[in-house]
Amino acid sequence: MEQSKGRRLILCPLPLQGHINPMLELAKILHSKGFSIAIIHTNFNSLNPSTRNPHFTYHSIPVDLTETEASIKDLTVVLSILNAKCVEPFRECLAGLLSDGVHSGNPIACLISDPFFDFTRSVAESFELPTIMLRTGSAASLAVYAAFPLLKEKGYLPISDSRLEIPVAELSPLKVKDLPTMTNCDPEVFYQVITNMANEPKASYGLIFNTFEDLEGHALATIRQKYYPNIPIFSLGPFHKCGPTTSSSSSSLLAQDQSCISWLDTQAPKSVVYVSFGSIASIDQAQFLEIAWGLVNSGQPFLWVVRLGLVQESNWLEKLPNEFTEALNKRAHVVKWAPQKEVLAHPAVGAFWTHCGWNSTLESICEGIPMICTPCFGDQMVNARYVSDVWKVGLQLEHGIERGEVERTIRRLMVEEEGEEIKDRALKLMEEANLCLKGGGSSYQSLDGLIQHILSL
Ligand code: UDP
Repeated sequence: MEQSKGRRLILCPLPLQGHINPMLELAKILHSKGFSIAIIHTNFNSLNPSTRNPHFTYHSIPVDLTETEASIKDLTVVLSILNAKCVEPFRECLAGLLSDGVHSGNPIACLISDPFFDFTRSVAESFELPTIMLRTGSAASLAVYAAFPLLKEKGYLPISDSRLEIPVAELSPLKVKDLPTMTNCDPEVFYQVITNMANEPKASYGLIFNTFEDLEGHALATIRQKYYPNIPIFSLGPFHKCGPTTSSSSSSLLAQDQSCISWLDTQAPKSVVYVSFGSIASIDQAQFLEIAWGLVNSGQPFLWVVRLGLVQESNWLEKLPNEFTEALNKRAHVVKWAPQKEVLAHPAVGAFWTHCGWNSTLESICEGIPMICTPCFGDQMVNARYVSDVWKVGLQLEHGIERGEVERTIRRLMVEEEGEEIKDRALKLMEEANLCLKGGGSSYQSLDGLIQHILSL
């Protein structure tokens, strides 16, 4: 702590919710270890000034997306626009911070960036500033991304509809249908974006994961030995359980509806199904109705996040029939955005129906909440397969979203004996998540290793 006192770090999150949250959690952890923190962020998805961490300095770069650009459904296009627009403003901002650092006698130790922000490392390198990468997804999903050239060579990619159920022998227990894909996107462009992202860390000074050894030891070993043998790999997650819990700062881009908590207070322990598909995924109107009826017919109380934009071509709930609203009575609560970590930690929550974004998956694991998985795109399919088939702490809706299957799956998890075993395993995994952060635990040691590494740069 003494050694890191005054050493300054610059962190640059990719401006998407699932990337911002872990980057800012990492910032809190490193701040608690004595580093001073500067955050570079874009005007697009800018961090809310009223909930910023008062101990950090924030440096906004004047990069925004037009309404048309922000509404593009193809994430690879949005990413390439952002990368192109950010290069020069980022360079200027970094130059300013480095020069301030020299003048104030408070030198900058390194940049911590996201490998999807593919210009940051080379810009930092031009100032001789080392970059460490934070990969915000699971280690298993990066191992899959890093294997993309092999998967292409072996004919698994591009995915063909006739081969969905075929096991990918090199990546057991994944099947072809679990390999990452992106909706509304040219598979060749997706392939290119992913291979660039997976190659970025190779030229960096280290790679950090928000995961832990007992959860992903195998994938981490593959990453260390096979794909990134020349850089140090740090697994110090789960971040949100590792940093100080007293800070009231939040990195949520949307206002979190606190009525969730008072509603949960009125529900029986472990009775509520919490439903949320994260910040980007979208569903069509038919799927929306299948979810709604599946939830109602399950007989369980539920808390449902219907984010604006979740349902295609719809404003919010107007597509729900009146009978649905009547059927709900007091058994349901629907909000636009929830304080998810608080929700998952609430004693009334018994299951999480999730899209299996990595943050959501890890947050659920940390609270011992079993999952129902509906992966939508990207690495979510890999995470979902690990939840259902490796850690066995959840069930997948294997045949898409259909009300009968939704109802049956909720019952299997919440009421039937099969669910009891899954719940037991989820509780054990939660204990492992807690243990790895304690003195001598793997994430505790990895954090020490990261600090020493940063100080040695
Ligand atoms: N989240 C939230 N409120 C919600 C839904 C999600 O605060 O109603 C947070 C959640 O806790 C997580 C992040 O948004 O930290 C979503 O990240 P994830 O990787 O799960 O999915 P993505 O949004 O990237 O698809």
